[in-house]
Amino acid sequence: MSRLVKVGDIVIGDGEPVTIAGPCSVESKEQIFETAKFLKEQGCDILRGGAFKPRTSPKSFQGLGVEGLRYLKEAGETYNMPIISELMDTDNLDDFIENVDIIQIGSRNMQNFSLLKELSKLNKPVMLKRGLSATIEEWVGAVEYLAMNGNTNIILCERGIRTFDTHTRNTFDVTAIPIMKKLTGFPIIADPSHATGVKELILPVSLAAMAGGADGIMIEVHPEPDKALSDGQQSLNFNEFDNINSKIQNYKRFIVEKLA
Ligand code: PEP
Ligand code: MN
Repeated sequence: MSRLVKVGDIVIGDGEPVTIAGPCSVESKEQIFETAKFLKEQGCDILRGGAFKPRTSPKSFQGLGVEGLRYLKEAGETYNMPIISELMDTDNLDDFIENVDIIQIGSRNMQNFSLLKELSKLNKPVMLKRGLSATIEEWVGAVEYLAMNGNTNIILCERGIRTFDTHTRNTFDVTAIPIMKKLTGFPIIADPSHATGVKELILPVSLAAMAGGADGIMIEVHPEPDKALSDGQQSLNFNEFDNINSKIQNYKRFIVEKLA
């Protein structure tokens, strides 16, 4: 059992894995409302959506900014789901404190120590993703920065690391799950969408992560992945999510009943 992080009525780290789902980016009010409605019906716990996007190319869609955060918040309130979104720099900290339930620190910012120090002063839940090529030691150091001024509401996220293999977007490191839980005590979420970049791998990697002790999974879902403004190739449409979600829910029940 890890340290517990409470977000509204949801508890992360109590032995029952949670599901976080939603689009890579919030693209419009309609898109996030439609997705939230569907995910709530599917029994998902937390709604995700990027409003400030750390894109490799400056020519790519950068997110709707504060407007996107507002749509995400309204969708979360309408469908009674806590929300998570990525904060890229301290300029927008107040907007995030006001609007989101969990602040996500993305891989590209795992070692942005000034950002981590600011967040360490809060008590708001922060989800720290593993850096693109971060070692366990580097990740633990980042967690220490995040905790240095008293924040205990820390969630980790294994999202794959860069290796020599090009078959998948990244290489999912299942060993990081029990190791990070042991070293830090904080709960950890697995992100099979960014870890693999391949739709077909999302179910097996989700199950493997939960078998390895993950406290939840985070999956990208979009009403029309072909038209998505970011990460469409790895995003599941509603039908595809529906197909794997029953297996995920069954496995969660198995974990709670049999492995507790
Ligand atoms: C994301 O979750 O939206 C994201 C950008 O992921 P990562 O930081 O893991 O690349
Ligand atoms: Mn994405």
